[in-house]
Amino acid sequence: AFAVRDVHKVFFSSDRAVHALTNINLDIETGSFTCILGPSGCGKSTLLRILGGLEKPTSGSVETAALGGEEVPASAYVFQDHGVFPWLTVADNVSFGLEMAGVKKKERRDIAMQWLSKVGMEQFATAYPEQLSGGMRQRVAIARAFATGSPYLLMDEPLGALDAQTRRVMQEQLLQLWQEEQKTVVLVTHAIEEALLLGDRVITMTARPGQVKEDDVVPFVRPRSLDLEADSGFIA
Ligand code: ATP
Ligand code: MG
Repeated sequence: AFAVRDVHKVFFSSDRAVHALTNINLDIETGSFTCILGPSGCGKSTLLRILGGLEKPTSGSVETAALGGEEVPASAYVFQDHGVFPWLTVADNVSFGLEMAGVKKKERRDIAMQWLSKVGMEQFATAYPEQLSGGMRQRVAIARAFATGSPYLLMDEPLGALDAQTRRVMQEQLLQLWQEEQKTVVLVTHAIEEALLLGDRVITMTARPGQVKEDDVVPFVRPRSLDLEADSGFIA
């Protein structure tokens, strides 16, 4: 779905140039769940923004085949700090991308409620983000990303700010939504165990200078479940 070719990204500031990404080559298959893992500052967010077309590479190219070269809608992106709009209600946040796409009000409302109920937030439809906890805001951001109907979802540490238990519930929910909806998901995370749990492919980036070190296909087939009993047999 994504073909990344020789991507370099340099940020220029007054006195120096930061090489955030050097020579990135990647293919991300349609329908896959790819996790990008790596230490702080290695360029994960930069790579994800470039994948989504929110930022241009300094050189090299990214093609998104299934979209016929179109860019991923910005509302299909879950930002590191969730990125919900404080001035919109929860329901209006979820349907924001649909409004941009010209979907009628009644239908927007129905789609928003459907996605809010999938992430367990339907009772907060008329609330504003400031009335919610960080984890709830992340759920809203995830609902919004799915509600766009984009075949691609780009998530930048979407579960990073959550407590362990909520995170686990959300991991399970993400896997379930991914399976039901057949999306191509690229998810950035710091957490190795999260990458191994969610990804059917895990890409690790080195600290400097933002290079893809390994491009691993996780070498076993694993049931898509957090149920430890069900998981226990898969390594053998
Ligand atoms: P984290 O795990 O902390 O979120 P990251 O892997 O997402 O880190 P990036 O945010 O992609 O890292 O940053 C990669 C490098 O590019 C860093 O050295 C950062 O300082 C630099 N950088 C990122 N965005 C900009 C910018 N807009 N202007 C200048 N430098 C930038
Ligand atoms: Mg980042």
